[in-house]
Amino acid sequence: MMLLLQTDENATWLAPYAYTIVLLGFCFFLFRVFENWYASKYDRPFYRHYFVFRKLKPNQISVLQNEFDFYNLLSKREKRQFQHRISVFLNDKKFVGRGGLEITDRIKTLIAAVGCMLSFGRKNYDYSLINYIIVYPDEFFSKLNDSYHKGEFNPRERALVLSWKHFEEGYQISNDNLNLGIHEFMHAMQLESKNSADIDSTRFSKQFQNILQRLTEQEVKDKLDATQFFRDYAFTNQYEFMAVLAEYFFESPKDFKSHFPEIYDSTKKLLNFRFAGY
Ligand SMILES: [Zn+2]
Repeated sequence: MMLLLQTDENATWLAPYAYTIVLLGFCFFLFRVFENWYASKYDRPFYRHYFVFRKLKPNQISVLQNEFDFYNLLSKREKRQFQHRISVFLNDKKFVGRGGLEITDRIKTLIAAVGCMLSFGRKNYDYSLINYIIVYPDEFFSKLNDSYHKGEFNPRERALVLSWKHFEEGYQISNDNLNLGIHEFMHAMQLESKNSADIDSTRFSKQFQNILQRLTEQEVKDKLDATQFFRDYAFTNQYEFMAVLAEYFFESPKDFKSHFPEIYDSTKKLLNFRFAGY
């Protein structure tokens, strides 16, 4: 009898806490519903960044300042977010040098910077399909189709494989519409979007459908033929098309926007890219 009484008392005493937990759970659920509604209505996440920032080492920051134009175009607050994301990326991915290439801080920082630039508008930016970044000094022999590659995304090995020489040319020469890093990271992002249901993936799929829809319009088809704006390789398949589109978006946004304003706009929404003058 004593024991039973005591249990009852305990339960009464605990009740407000139990209600609080249920209430908090319900609020969290409501917030999630709101967040998803907002994302689908406005084509952007309600918020995309937490408020705690990790910092990079001074030598990594000077690599960004001296060699990565995008970084210098960001506001002070965006720079802190960008550094934070690079730091998380570097902690998360394993870098492997092949063919005699030694992985340096500079190589790691610049590869992470390209990945984080492409995903900077997203809330989910960690490229969950990539565990390894494998870097060769130059073109490498790929068993995927028994030929030499400059880069590839290999989902089975969870690896992004890059020729350093071509990666460097990609971000250094900024108006030839070739950017190996952007191209391969986009393959990883697109595959992730196909297989996930988070707000970034949902927005990706929606905007990609918009882009494909545009391509079926005769007016756009004619213009593509007349301008030859996107290199032929883009029309290999949907993945190559999106990867090439992303290269053009970063390499020559002004030309892209003036030739194909609607496709540009959908690409911008797909990436939620609202920085650095885009
Ligand atoms: Zn490709």
